[in-house]
Amino acid sequence: MESKFNPKQIEEKVLNFWSDRSIYKLSVQKNQKGPLFRFIDGPPYTTGAIHLGTAWNKVMKDTILRYKRLQGYNVRDQPGYDMHGLPIEVKVEEDLKIRTKKEIEERIGVDKFVEHCRKFALDNLWIMNKQFARLGVWMDWENPYMTIKDSYIEGAWWALKEAYGKGALYLGPGSVTWCARCSTALAKHELEYENVKDNSIFVKFALEGKKNEFVIIWTTTPWTLPANMGVAVNPDFMYSKLKVDNEFWYVAKDMAAALLGAMGRKFEIVENISGEKMHGWKYTHPFADEIELQKKLEKENKKAHTVLAVGDDVFPNFVTLQAGSGLVHTAPGAGPEDFIVGKHFGIPAVTLIDETGTFTKDAGKFAGLRAKKDDAKFVEHLKNKGMIVHEAVVEHEYPHCWRCKKPVVYRVTDQWYIGVTKLRSKMISENKKIKWTPDWAGDRWFHSWLENLQDWCISRQRYWGIPLPIWVCQKCRHTKLIGSREELGVKVKELHRPWIDNVVLKCEKCKSEMKRVPDVLDVWLDSGAAPWASLPFPEDGKKILDKWFPTDFIIEGKDQIRGWFNSLMSLSMVSHGKPSFKSVYMHGFVSDANGMKMSKSLGNIVSPDQVIEKHGSEAFRLYCIKGEAGEDLRFNWKDVEESYKALNILWNTAVFASYMDLSKFNPETYRLDKKKLNPEDKWILSRINSLNGKLTHAFETYNFHEIQGLLSTFIVEDVSRWYVKLLRNRTWVSVAGEDKLVAFKVLYEVLKRYLILASPVLPLLSEEIYQNLVRPFSNKLPESIHLSEWPKPDTSFVNEKLEEQMEIARKIVETSLTIREEAKVKLRWPLKHLSVEGEKVGAAVKTFEDVILEQANVKTVKAGAGKGNAKEFAYGKAILDTEITQDILGEALAREVMRAIQSLRKKNNFTVDEKITLTLSSSDEFSREALNKFRKEIVEKVGASKIEIHVQAGKEKFTDELDFEGKKVQIAFDRAK
Ligand SMILES: [Zn+2]
Ligand SMILES: [Zn+2]
Repeated sequence: MESKFNPKQIEEKVLNFWSDRSIYKLSVQKNQKGPLFRFIDGPPYTTGAIHLGTAWNKVMKDTILRYKRLQGYNVRDQPGYDMHGLPIEVKVEEDLKIRTKKEIEERIGVDKFVEHCRKFALDNLWIMNKQFARLGVWMDWENPYMTIKDSYIEGAWWALKEAYGKGALYLGPGSVTWCARCSTALAKHELEYENVKDNSIFVKFALEGKKNEFVIIWTTTPWTLPANMGVAVNPDFMYSKLKVDNEFWYVAKDMAAALLGAMGRKFEIVENISGEKMHGWKYTHPFADEIELQKKLEKENKKAHTVLAVGDDVFPNFVTLQAGSGLVHTAPGAGPEDFIVGKHFGIPAVTLIDETGTFTKDAGKFAGLRAKKDDAKFVEHLKNKGMIVHEAVVEHEYPHCWRCKKPVVYRVTDQWYIGVTKLRSKMISENKKIKWTPDWAGDRWFHSWLENLQDWCISRQRYWGIPLPIWVCQKCRHTKLIGSREELGVKVKELHRPWIDNVVLKCEKCKSEMKRVPDVLDVWLDSGAAPWASLPFPEDGKKILDKWFPTDFIIEGKDQIRGWFNSLMSLSMVSHGKPSFKSVYMHGFVSDANGMKMSKSLGNIVSPDQVIEKHGSEAFRLYCIKGEAGEDLRFNWKDVEESYKALNILWNTAVFASYMDLSKFNPETYRLDKKKLNPEDKWILSRINSLNGKLTHAFETYNFHEIQGLLSTFIVEDVSRWYVKLLRNRTWVSVAGEDKLVAFKVLYEVLKRYLILASPVLPLLSEEIYQNLVRPFSNKLPESIHLSEWPKPDTSFVNEKLEEQMEIARKIVETSLTIREEAKVKLRWPLKHLSVEGEKVGAAVKTFEDVILEQANVKTVKAGAGKGNAKEFAYGKAILDTEITQDILGEALAREVMRAIQSLRKKNNFTVDEKITLTLSSSDEFSREALNKFRKEIVEKVGASKIEIHVQAGKEKFTDELDFEGKKVQIAFDRAK
């Protein structure tokens, strides 16, 4: 084995090995007859290179899939890609310098635009595939599911047809959130809320038939005032009629003082009146003169432009006392809540803007102005009319388009909906059967999402998406849903726009032409269909569906509550009548070390490539799983480095273990005699078997945090910093005999098992060590570590008492070392006696006496009282006799000399088994005596074939001089001939 740890080189080497030997395919073959593990990959958008969040997500998936494979499962590991939708259209628009939707049809052509989108999505898919594979992730990279394939589209069509057949798909008017830039409806899950500062205005509307009396309304969206149809009050609130100069204003009683105070206006309360009594008051529309349509509407509808009592029965919390005046401007055509209120009172919803957010000629004087953008112009207009009584800047959350980041507006249009509200209570009860990790993600988050579920608007007025499979007769309006290519009955190049748009069907009722509804689907519906659309279903029939549906396990981030989890649940419920997944692991977001979102503008983005370049992908893998379920990953380099160090320790331990190869010893054929085990051997065998059991449990419960902790602690603390340290004296090259073989055998078995246990997390590093340390000893072993079986713990080795005793022994040693340090006595100097007091220490001292003697470097240790320097520790008190006698001094000198020779050997690149001829000399008699006394031990430790101790210095080539407490010793040696 290479003694230096070079992760990047190792990782690339292993990736090549896997591909040369087709290891992934062998693993698939191995488990073909195994039990099924139905996993489905939540598809990332093919919008560009992967980021840390996607890398993290795939690493967690890979960790679980690898564990399941080791357990013999036939794992469904097809990766998926979300390749349609606005995210891609927006990128292509940027590339083609398209500014408006119109240009797509008129300048570029839909066919060319769609081809660009397809190329963009495919190019990115292959880049992302490679990036995921570089992380050591094993999925069926050659065969990803792509949402743009006809067979996939058919899966989504099938679901819509099922929904239609069950009455869960309908066309209806509704207030939809609209992106003016993208000219399309957006669903709730396509909105991003951002804190923005907006101008809010207080406007007075004149009451009709009451001289100088006004209702004061408040709004943060002045552009919606032209569409105003009513003013809402809460029937349960009291309102005050205020005398302000020579006018009378109506505002909520509890808000009057604060509001008028903010305006700096004096007022008197004339009377108080309940909101209920104000219902029906007529007011003059603020733009009655400017908008002809409003006058017409008023004539047609008695309730138009009146005060409306909106209680919680109509719409909960529509009128509150949180902000404003307690009177709410209501425009059913320009807001989803207003739409519901309007519907309740039978007031029409007028939308005065077109799909680009521009006011139409219906808006009279305002035709041509832009919604939201031109807010200031409406304010200006109202000011000129003297209607604004107060202005204030408010900071509030406002929804933005998830793709182009522009603030959204609202329109009322006819759209296609999936009626999930009717299924709400069934979904809530089905959700209770789903196993969520963490459980609050399901009990609280998803539960409350479902409680507030609204019908899902699925039609989008765009191009690059799954076309709506709905054909409508141009004459009799007969509607037909197409569930597959076969049902279409005509040949078409592909199912995308614009080709599908040319498919004209014949009406079954009146034989006229049926044309397709030109919309495409909300891209979230694409991924919602993944559990079956990724299969050859419906084309291969129900058998394949029964095999792989529903999904056993999915794993995604917390943003998917409103995203993928929602679309999976909704679409499956309306088509299959049951959820499409049985268990979910939910993780958080990746942020920077301070918890800030990584973004270009903040300049705090770290890419997976940067991490790999610096510490390798395995360090990232070990690091990124350290959080608890549902938690965010606050990326920080220091912790990645911690993981890197742990891997370095694993590597060094393996290098140390590989010395057994020098001894021409084969641990695979060596039979271990349990009777020959030292207590520390029994301890580490107990530990590895305990670890085995704990890890199995952690993997079964998707407890990544624990998996990471157990793996790191075991290799760093138990093996490297303790067991290997205890082995040093048993494994010197010069040491012969059975005990050394026992030590190597135990270390080998421990590492071999550890490597398999760690392989789901560290697939590349575990493979490399396995190939170097384990596989050479037997060709009966699997060709790759990933073709192994998940080991079962051998409970006959597990001894919790022994583990506790070792824990105590280790603490005793550590405490004695602290006492030494405080007394300034070097560890190399042996001390006479260590006493330990405490209830549980007796057994520990008895079992691990040798360990304590050696590691504390004392001649004797006893449980009980003693003299010397004392220090308390968790299990009692340690008392170390720190007196330095002449004997101790002599031994210390001999040990310093041995250490100096070892380091000189190392400095001059002596291999461990090279012998030397050695001369030690000193003019000091005490020193020579001490060296003579330890002659035999020196010879053994430093590998000397010949030793001389003189007054005169030796003539050998390699020399050093030691100064021990003022006494000088010369060292000289050569390679033995
Ligand atoms: Zn947009
Ligand atoms: Zn017809």
